[in-house]
Amino acid sequence: MPEYKAPLREIKFVMNELLDMPGHYASIPAFADVATPDMVDAILTEGAKFCEQELAPLNRIGDIEGCTRNDDGSVTTPTGFKEAYAKFVEGGWPSLAHDVEHGGQGLPESLGTVMSEMVGTSNWSWGMYPGLSHGAMNTIALHGTHEQKETYLTKLVSGEWTGTMCLTESHCGSDLGILKTKAEANADGSYAITGSKIFISAGEHDMSGNIVHIVLARLPGAPEGTKGISLFIVPKFLPNEDGTPGERNTLICGSIEHKMGIHGNATCVMNFDGAKGWLIGPENKGLNCMFTFMNTARIGTALQGATASEASFQGALAYAKDRLAMRSLTGPKAPEKAADPIIVHPDVRRMLLTQKAFAEGGRALVYLAAQQNDIVNKGETEEQRKEADELLGFLTPIAKAFLTESGLESANLGMQVFGGHGFIAEWGMEQIVRDTRISTIYEGTTGIQALDLLGRKVLMTQGASLRNFTKMVHKFCQAEEGNEELAALVKPLAEVNKEWGDLTMKIGMTAMKNRDEVGAASVDYLMYSGYAVLGYLWARMAKVAQDALANGTTEEDYYKAKLTTAKFYFARILPRTKAHAATMLAGADSLMDLAEEHFAF
Ligand SMILES: Cc1cc2nc3c(=O)[nH]c(=O)nc-3n(C[C@H](O)[C@H](O)[C@H](O)COP(=O)(O)OP(=O)(O)OC[C@H]3O[C@@H](n4cnc5c(N)ncnc54)[C@H](O)[C@@H]3O)c2cc1C
Repeated sequence: MPEYKAPLREIKFVMNELLDMPGHYASIPAFADVATPDMVDAILTEGAKFCEQELAPLNRIGDIEGCTRNDDGSVTTPTGFKEAYAKFVEGGWPSLAHDVEHGGQGLPESLGTVMSEMVGTSNWSWGMYPGLSHGAMNTIALHGTHEQKETYLTKLVSGEWTGTMCLTESHCGSDLGILKTKAEANADGSYAITGSKIFISAGEHDMSGNIVHIVLARLPGAPEGTKGISLFIVPKFLPNEDGTPGERNTLICGSIEHKMGIHGNATCVMNFDGAKGWLIGPENKGLNCMFTFMNTARIGTALQGATASEASFQGALAYAKDRLAMRSLTGPKAPEKAADPIIVHPDVRRMLLTQKAFAEGGRALVYLAAQQNDIVNKGETEEQRKEADELLGFLTPIAKAFLTESGLESANLGMQVFGGHGFIAEWGMEQIVRDTRISTIYEGTTGIQALDLLGRKVLMTQGASLRNFTKMVHKFCQAEEGNEELAALVKPLAEVNKEWGDLTMKIGMTAMKNRDEVGAASVDYLMYSGYAVLGYLWARMAKVAQDALANGTTEEDYYKAKLTTAKFYFARILPRTKAHAATMLAGADSLMDLAEEHFAF
């Protein structure tokens, strides 16, 4: 199993040097007094310790043991999961980024994201239990009544209870407009929820005293499609007057899935049999409210991609320095040994640098999104909040889909660096591949994210959201135009930035004649966008490194490595945009011409 070491230097580079989080926290009154540099440092240090010492050792155990459903419908999590969760609660981690009035510590969401990165890299399956809770908390905080916040939010924030997200049914996941779960009004103002939800992460387990399900269902006579969906809180145990878990609600875990990866997380079929629930938000507006949950979860899933790159990179790097095979093409590099370590070979370096570029670039993208989230939540002016919300909306599908696709690529490369040993379970590299494979599927598949980006976010705003981003890139490129050392980065970035707009225009024109052109171009468009966004972030990281070197840093090797990785990204990763540009313009006919009955004979 690769040993997890929290990359604190890299985390601090993005937080302090790239995104100026200290300045950002100081500029938001809600955070200025709480997210002080000392506090942030203490959280990073303690968080890293918890993840390295408590969670990482459970990662393989979780994979081997998986979860067990008992005859009474209860679920037992792998050895050590429950105890680690108790320590997590004791340490106050669930309450980190939640409002003080509900028992939270009032710290920024972005700091919670940093902690989630360390949790997720050390043990993704375990991290999903508090991860799902976090989304439930945000949903209740934004859409719940005062009473719902008092009853549920405080318990979720303290970590005594956990939450879930119940959307999917056996016949629908992407298309929630056709879901069937029913909600009928009871005389006491509550609702009776009846239906079956599948694939519910953390739907049942033994880690918390109660489980609060956030469930999508239809009221009688509700309009068809997405306009007729409402949202409900449905607890496993109905809360007593004093807030303790009381009578068992009529819902049960019918089974748990046997699946490719994330074995330590219980993926449950949840059967609701007239279970008592309470409406959150207005009737028939459930999907709008659920978007709060889904957006939290999408950034959380984007993080899964970046954590897969990081975890796999850490394992592969250590192995590549140690494993001996053949001699370097330019002559022996370790003549005292029987052969050279494989890190001398260009192709092994290609794999390692790709992982490194995705891990560090991915972190920068997720933190940038999290920074916008802080402003959306607590920004001072309406204008600031609106601007951040637009940028976050644009970045979310890119981060979710691009980082999970690149995370999967990184995980595969990590396995490849290990050769045959990568395929063998005991090294833990194949677990990373299996665990991360789901990330391109749940929370909206890559295909669905791509439609969201190109259709909803870009074309429906007549390109405004894209223009806001490309303006930022353009400004950077203009400022660095005369920067000789970064010319190999700035020039191609400026070209891609311009081409991005041109491609959007072309697709927009063809889409006016044939809507299938959007679906035919969308995934290539999304991947192109991902490479462009990461290009911008890598160029900015290179500039930070260049400045540090010019100012006589004591960490010369660190910044030189940053600069070299940026150059690698531009030389070997960004050119992938060329293929995506060509295929996104290849037209829908090449996909639609083959008649359905002629796919196979
Ligand atoms: C381990 C695991 C955990 C999960 N956790 C949860 C959870 O906690 N809560 C929850 O509610 N759900 C959860 N899910 C469900 C998950 O979100 C869905 O599986 C996912 O959204 C895809 O839905 P689907 O499986 O119904 O696939 P479908 O919607 O049937 O899609 C099948 C394929 O068709 C494509 N497709 C569909 N429509 C279009 C379109 N219009 N254009 C182009 N392509 C399209 C999709 O991209 C996909 O490739 C989980 C699933 C798994 C496997």
